[in-house]
Amino acid sequence: MPSVIQNPPEAQPSMHFDATAATNAYLAQIPADKTARSDAYFEGGYWLILWDFLYGAAVALLLLNRRWSARMRDFSERVTRFKPVHTFVYWLQYLALTTILVFPLTVYEDYFREHKYGLATQTFGPWMGDQMKGLGVNLVLGGLLAMLLFGVVRRRARTWWIWGAGVTILFLIFTALIAPVYIVPIFNKVTRLDDPKIVDPILSMARANGIPAKDVYTMDASKQTTRMSANVSGFANTMRITLNDNLLRRGSPEEIQAVMGHEMGHYVMNHVNKLITFFSIIIVLAFVCLHWGLSWTLQRWGEKWQIRGVGDTAVLPLVVLLAAVFGFVLTPVFNTIIRTQEHEADMYGLNTSRQPDGFAQAAIHLGEYRKMNPGPTEEWLFFDHPSGRNRIYDAMRWKAENLKLFTPPLSRKEEAH
Ligand SMILES: [Zn+2]
Repeated sequence: MPSVIQNPPEAQPSMHFDATAATNAYLAQIPADKTARSDAYFEGGYWLILWDFLYGAAVALLLLNRRWSARMRDFSERVTRFKPVHTFVYWLQYLALTTILVFPLTVYEDYFREHKYGLATQTFGPWMGDQMKGLGVNLVLGGLLAMLLFGVVRRRARTWWIWGAGVTILFLIFTALIAPVYIVPIFNKVTRLDDPKIVDPILSMARANGIPAKDVYTMDASKQTTRMSANVSGFANTMRITLNDNLLRRGSPEEIQAVMGHEMGHYVMNHVNKLITFFSIIIVLAFVCLHWGLSWTLQRWGEKWQIRGVGDTAVLPLVVLLAAVFGFVLTPVFNTIIRTQEHEADMYGLNTSRQPDGFAQAAIHLGEYRKMNPGPTEEWLFFDHPSGRNRIYDAMRWKAENLKLFTPPLSRKEEAH
């Protein structure tokens, strides 16, 4: 993408300001080869949703049909009869085996493909280091969740799915709470921003919106990627806004303010809490389906797979398989819920930052890894943010309807005459 994006003549305030023409003028600044490249990257992602699902399903079926899962359970039982430790030992083997089996896809998707599209900044060694760290996080958090869930299933043989949903929801909230403080710093260095040129306008915007922020955080995302981004993370008192260093380095001040306004929208409209509520409903639904799916499949193939029941750790690949089917089918629903929030944050951000051109610049920069101009069905199915074209159009329409903010004082005087 062009590193400096011009404010095109069509987007200058005038009597003839036209939102569509201004949008097209912004889009015209993107060279055709760059559009082809980011389209190919993003459209490839649609197929990856399918391949990830099929590959994961094949791995799960392999573990079940070849009774590797049953053997891992047998081994765990030989190690210990103490149930929580037994579950953890099973989890350890399961995680190691599936990580190895899925590794070819992981290395293609996260390493070679990211490099091919110029989005990755890591050499293989550091990338592998991050993978190992991720595995460690997974070992601890996944192990904890597995121990809790199997504990619940063993104690509540008939109502386990209600209790299981409850435990999973609490676990989700716990993870959201600790993530910015304990998980993000494992991978990246998070620091407080102290450049007053950037921080002061952001903090006054925060005050104007009733946000009790004293600090703005940044992290060294450039260690892994060239992507520009920012996010709101955490829950309750760990909630914070973080701008990544790619945005700070490559974004104009207007662009940074526009992005910050968007993030404040997430914050003020309690999007994290709403998302947790939404996911809680999905988790309850998932457990209802799981309850039904497990009894159906175990009745048919339980003996063949040597799974003794829902409380047997050997059932885990089947649980993962059923959850994957559920998640795959609901992909457009997840995308639409998140995209709706993102659109709300976009409009909030425009109103609060009053930087429609900064926002258009950001939309173009984000177009390095997202298709700018998809069809409406494509956007509904696959986009978890509004498309770049729609974002620029929203900004330009907002500008058209608030042109007086951009008219120089002289002509305002003329208008008065
Ligand atoms: Zn957002």
